[in-house]
Amino acid sequence: MAKDACLFCRIAAGELPATVVYADDEVMAFRDIAARAPIHVLVIPRRHIVSVMDMSDEDEPLLGHMFSVIREVARQDGIAEAGFRVVSNAGPDGGQTVDHLHFHVFGGRFMTWPPG
Ligand code: AMP
Repeated sequence: MAKDACLFCRIAAGELPATVVYADDEVMAFRDIAARAPIHVLVIPRRHIVSVMDMSDEDEPLLGHMFSVIREVARQDGIAEAGFRVVSNAGPDGGQTVDHLHFHVFGGRFMTWPPG
Protein backbone atom coordinates (compact mmCIF):
# COMPACT_ATOMS: atom_id res chain seq x y z
CA MET A 1 0.00 0.00 0.00
CA ALA A 2 1.30 3.46 -0.88
CA LYS A 3 2.27 5.47 2.16
CA ASP A 4 -0.04 8.36 1.24
CA ALA A 5 -3.00 5.95 1.16
CA CYS A 6 -2.12 4.34 4.50
CA LEU A 7 -4.87 4.80 7.07
CA PHE A 8 -2.55 5.12 10.06
CA CYS A 9 -0.16 7.48 8.19
CA ARG A 10 -3.18 9.68 7.59
CA ILE A 11 -4.13 9.56 11.27
CA ALA A 12 -0.51 10.35 12.21
CA ALA A 13 -0.58 13.32 9.82
CA GLY A 14 -3.81 14.61 11.38
CA GLU A 15 -5.70 14.10 8.10
CA LEU A 16 -8.14 11.64 9.69
CA PRO A 17 -9.68 11.99 13.14
CA ALA A 18 -8.73 9.76 16.04
CA THR A 19 -9.08 9.85 19.80
CA VAL A 20 -5.42 10.46 20.55
CA VAL A 21 -4.25 9.53 24.05
CA TYR A 22 -0.52 10.12 23.51
CA ALA A 23 1.60 11.80 20.85
CA ASP A 24 5.21 12.84 20.38
CA ASP A 25 7.53 13.30 17.40
CA GLU A 26 7.93 9.57 16.80
CA VAL A 27 4.96 7.74 18.28
CA MET A 28 1.20 8.13 18.59
CA ALA A 29 -1.42 6.25 20.59
CA PHE A 30 -5.14 6.44 19.90
CA ARG A 31 -8.28 4.49 20.77
CA ASP A 32 -9.25 1.63 18.46
CA ILE A 33 -12.38 2.51 16.48
CA ALA A 34 -13.82 -0.98 17.12
CA ALA A 35 -12.69 -1.65 20.70
CA ARG A 36 -12.43 -5.35 21.62
CA ALA A 37 -11.99 -4.63 25.34
CA PRO A 38 -12.94 -1.81 27.76
CA ILE A 39 -9.48 -0.36 27.07
CA HIS A 40 -8.21 -0.82 23.52
CA VAL A 41 -5.46 1.52 22.37
CA LEU A 42 -3.25 1.32 19.28
CA VAL A 43 0.37 2.47 19.54
CA ILE A 44 1.98 3.32 16.20
CA PRO A 45 5.20 4.83 14.89
CA ARG A 46 4.53 7.99 12.88
CA ARG A 47 6.92 6.67 10.23
CA HIS A 48 5.43 4.11 7.85
CA ILE A 49 6.65 0.63 8.78
CA VAL A 50 4.44 -2.20 7.52
CA SER A 51 4.87 -4.73 10.32
CA VAL A 52 7.29 -6.17 12.85
CA MET A 53 8.96 -7.95 9.94
CA ASP A 54 9.83 -4.60 8.34
CA MET A 55 11.67 -3.24 11.35
CA SER A 56 15.45 -3.05 11.10
CA ASP A 57 18.27 -3.04 13.66
CA GLU A 58 18.19 0.79 13.47
CA ASP A 59 14.61 0.67 14.75
CA GLU A 60 15.59 -0.83 18.11
CA PRO A 61 15.47 2.56 19.89
CA LEU A 62 12.05 3.18 18.32
CA LEU A 63 10.83 -0.20 19.57
CA GLY A 64 12.05 0.61 23.07
CA HIS A 65 10.32 3.96 22.90
CA MET A 66 7.07 2.36 21.74
CA PHE A 67 7.13 0.14 24.83
CA SER A 68 7.76 3.18 26.99
CA VAL A 69 4.61 4.69 25.44
CA ILE A 70 2.73 1.44 26.07
CA ARG A 71 3.64 1.71 29.78
CA GLU A 72 2.52 5.35 29.81
CA VAL A 73 -0.80 4.46 28.16
CA ALA A 74 -1.34 1.64 30.67
CA ARG A 75 -0.72 4.03 33.57
CA GLN A 76 -2.96 6.74 32.07
CA ASP A 77 -5.82 4.31 31.50
CA GLY A 78 -5.47 2.76 34.95
CA ILE A 79 -4.67 -0.79 33.82
CA ALA A 80 -1.01 -0.96 34.81
CA GLU A 81 -1.68 -2.73 38.11
CA ALA A 82 -4.43 -5.12 37.01
CA GLY A 83 -2.54 -6.05 33.86
CA PHE A 84 -3.14 -5.88 30.17
CA ARG A 85 -2.18 -7.51 26.88
CA VAL A 86 0.07 -6.19 24.09
CA VAL A 87 -0.41 -7.69 20.62
CA SER A 88 1.06 -6.95 17.22
CA ASN A 89 -0.58 -8.87 14.39
CA ALA A 90 1.75 -9.43 11.42
CA GLY A 91 0.78 -10.62 7.98
CA PRO A 92 -2.23 -12.64 6.80
CA ASP A 93 -2.00 -15.50 9.29
CA GLY A 94 -1.39 -12.98 12.08
CA GLY A 95 -4.68 -11.31 11.20
CA GLN A 96 -3.14 -7.96 10.31
CA THR A 97 -5.72 -5.74 8.58
CA VAL A 98 -3.91 -2.38 8.60
CA ASP A 99 -0.46 -2.53 7.03
CA HIS A 100 1.18 0.01 9.33
CA LEU A 101 2.97 -1.36 12.41
CA HIS A 102 0.86 -1.10 15.54
CA PHE A 103 0.70 -2.56 19.01
CA HIS A 104 -2.74 -3.23 20.42
CA VAL A 105 -3.02 -2.55 24.15
CA PHE A 106 -6.01 -4.41 25.59
CA GLY A 107 -7.18 -4.06 29.18
CA GLY A 108 -10.04 -3.53 31.58
CA ARG A 109 -11.07 -7.19 31.66
CA PHE A 110 -9.48 -10.62 32.01
CA MET A 111 -7.87 -11.74 28.74
CA THR A 112 -8.44 -15.34 27.77
CA TRP A 113 -5.69 -17.52 26.32
CA PRO A 114 -4.97 -18.78 23.72
CA PRO A 115 -6.13 -16.17 21.20
CA GLY A 116 -8.32 -17.40 18.36
P1 AMP B 1 -5.01 -5.30 12.92
O1 AMP B 1 -6.24 -6.05 12.49
O2 AMP B 1 -4.18 -6.00 13.93
O3 AMP B 1 -4.23 -4.82 11.71
O4 AMP B 1 -5.54 -4.01 13.68
C1 AMP B 1 -6.07 -2.90 13.03
C2 AMP B 1 -6.96 -2.20 14.01
O5 AMP B 1 -7.20 -0.91 13.53
C3 AMP B 1 -8.32 -2.86 14.20
O6 AMP B 1 -8.49 -3.23 15.57
C4 AMP B 1 -9.31 -1.77 13.77
O7 AMP B 1 -10.48 -1.75 14.56
C5 AMP B 1 -8.48 -0.51 13.95
N1 AMP B 1 -8.89 0.62 13.13
C6 AMP B 1 -9.21 0.62 11.82
N2 AMP B 1 -9.50 1.86 11.40
C7 AMP B 1 -9.34 2.69 12.48
C8 AMP B 1 -9.49 4.08 12.70
N3 AMP B 1 -9.87 4.92 11.72
N4 AMP B 1 -9.27 4.57 13.93
C9 AMP B 1 -8.91 3.74 14.94
N5 AMP B 1 -8.73 2.41 14.80
C10 AMP B 1 -8.96 1.88 13.58
